[in-house]
Amino acid sequence: MEQGSKAALGWAARDASGHLSPYSFSRVLRDGDVTIKVLFCGVCHTDLHIIKNEWGNAMYPVVPGHEVVGVVTDVGPGVTKFTAGDTVGVGYFIDSCRTCESCSTGHENYCPNVVLASNGVDRDGVTTTQGGFSDVVVVDQHYVVRIPPSLPLDGAAPLLCAGVTVYSPMVEYGLNVPGKRLGVVGLGGLGHMAVKFGKAFGMAVTVISSSPAKRDEAMERLGADEFLVSRDTEQMKAAAGTMDGIIDTVSAWHPLAPLLELLKPMGQMVLVGVPSKPLELPAFAVCPSGKRVAGNGVGSVGDCQAMLDFAGQHGITADIELVRMDYVNTAIERLERNDVRYRFVVDVAGSLGPAA
Ligand code: NAP
Ligand code: ZN
Ligand code: ZN
Repeated sequence: MEQGSKAALGWAARDASGHLSPYSFSRVLRDGDVTIKVLFCGVCHTDLHIIKNEWGNAMYPVVPGHEVVGVVTDVGPGVTKFTAGDTVGVGYFIDSCRTCESCSTGHENYCPNVVLASNGVDRDGVTTTQGGFSDVVVVDQHYVVRIPPSLPLDGAAPLLCAGVTVYSPMVEYGLNVPGKRLGVVGLGGLGHMAVKFGKAFGMAVTVISSSPAKRDEAMERLGADEFLVSRDTEQMKAAAGTMDGIIDTVSAWHPLAPLLELLKPMGQMVLVGVPSKPLELPAFAVCPSGKRVAGNGVGSVGDCQAMLDFAGQHGITADIELVRMDYVNTAIERLERNDVRYRFVVDVAGSLGPAA
């Protein structure tokens, strides 16, 4: 049942330039909803794809942001999971149908009627959802997760999308076993989280990157065991057939065949990057060696909570550059140029306001 509405101030893109500027709107309050004051919100490459309409599905105005950490300020009738003052997170989706096969088997991230946190269609079938680059979000209690108290809140924000998107397929496909060899393609927001989780699982982790300049950081700061430059055919050939699994996080078109060659027979490739131009999957690269290619979309609410608890136990957060809201357009330009180590996070509560 609707319980009224809540005024919100966000930053929205109005067209495919993707330029963000202040935008006032309201959020509906319903039974079971949790009202959350946004503290920090990560900047995911998906936000960039959407606000620049690279996926062709933008519903302007778009308030992006789906890596939210905040504090509960109010709870609606029927809320039992949270109380005011709790530190919580919200990720890529904020509702689902709760009755389909995906929802009833704990895979609500694959519900055909999933409600995305931003640029989605709300439960009423009409309203466009608006994301976390805003002072307040309102989300049903079942789609809100708890942030472990041991984690710094700004560095924890990217766990809500980047973290769960790599953690969940690693668990799903057995790429969380000590001693196994994991390849991580693309050392950006998702990729650097995959390296951290891979090392925490006790795996041998190889970064496969198009940026030779990231070698030292990958190995010294992030703890990767090996670093391959994807364009270096000699290096790639020397590593052929060595990996149990690969997580491909690349945001732009790239050839898959040289990456598949790195896998052992029956090895598992998981695509999590979503370039707008289709990737090519040559049958000869998978059939003779029984290799497998899967896709993964974020993770369920349960996966997300499990990932956060694991991150809390192992002290895992993102390496971030914390920025003010009025820097967000520059941050997005820099993200597009691959100039971030490794995630921008907006200090929403500390800086939201009209454009300077
Ligand atoms: P990001 O921080 O920009 O990282 C992407 C990385 O891809 C870059 O750091 C770069 O790594 C590599 N790269 C970029 N352009 C390249 C090119 N032309 N050729 C080869 N490598 C290139 O982005 P992100 O936030 O991690 O997101 C990555 C992708 O995952 C995006 O497409 C995003 O939409 C998608 N995503 C999917 C899900 C899901 O549920 N499946 C969730 C979140 C995000 P190197 O410099 O190391 O090469
Ligand atoms: Zn994301
Ligand atoms: Zn469903």
